[in-house]
Amino acid sequence: MRLDVISLAPEAFAPLQGLGVIGRAFAAGIAELHCHNPRDYALDRYRKVDDEPYGGGAGMVLKPEPIYAAFEAIPIKEKRRVLLMSPQGQPLRQDDLKRWATNYNQLVFLCGHYEGFDERIRPLADEEVSIGDFVLTGGELPAMVIINGVVRLLKGTVGTAASLEEESHSSLLLEHSHYTRPANFRGQEVPEVLRSGDHGAIARWRSQQQQARTKERRPDLYARWLKQDPEPTPDRQSQP
Ligand code: SAM
Repeated sequence: MRLDVISLAPEAFAPLQGLGVIGRAFAAGIAELHCHNPRDYALDRYRKVDDEPYGGGAGMVLKPEPIYAAFEAIPIKEKRRVLLMSPQGQPLRQDDLKRWATNYNQLVFLCGHYEGFDERIRPLADEEVSIGDFVLTGGELPAMVIINGVVRLLKGTVGTAASLEEESHSSLLLEHSHYTRPANFRGQEVPEVLRSGDHGAIARWRSQQQQARTKERRPDLYARWLKQDPEPTPDRQSQP
């Protein structure tokens, strides 16, 4: 998968290349990352990318021209999706990561700064995405969150498909707890059933664990699980 990032801080993405399984996925060519700095496309001698807002007010706004120029210089692959990072976007969910990892060969990330984008930049995007109801200084961390979540779903990045299917947020139930050696750590015992070798009993115990954990930690998900209601967000469902 080709990943293109339009960012005023392209250096922020360097650590991704050395980040465990994600770094190895880049090294293996499963995904490739290309960063584009709008400042390189600014036309004036000061390479200005921001300006004061019309109508006054605090902060600076990203100008459309350098963003459009950077965007238009990116090679277009078939099945491309353009994502604009914004605290006003749709809240990110695991389903989105899966949808992008499955349906697209190229993702383009628009990272904002300052007060955000000139409104005329928004039409470049297919979707606006928020990583939560809080405000960061720039779109780099949100883009890296998405890149991490998408790349780990690409075939070949994570060892076994089962580990992706059984984890939290791949269904409505959270994942069960895990234990490794030693069997007793400072008085905390590994549940007997996990050491029994009885695979049926282990599966039942894990299933009960999932339900109990979800009920305790995420009653909203648990209530939907009881109703078997995947509750897809309507406007996202219509998106490919
Ligand atoms: N003034 C904007 C507003 O109130 O909606 C916030 C601008 S924020 C300081 C600067 C940039 O950081 C945004 O344009 C966006 O790209 C990014 N950003 C900040 N918080 C984010 C979030 N929760 N999710 C996604 N992107 C975010």
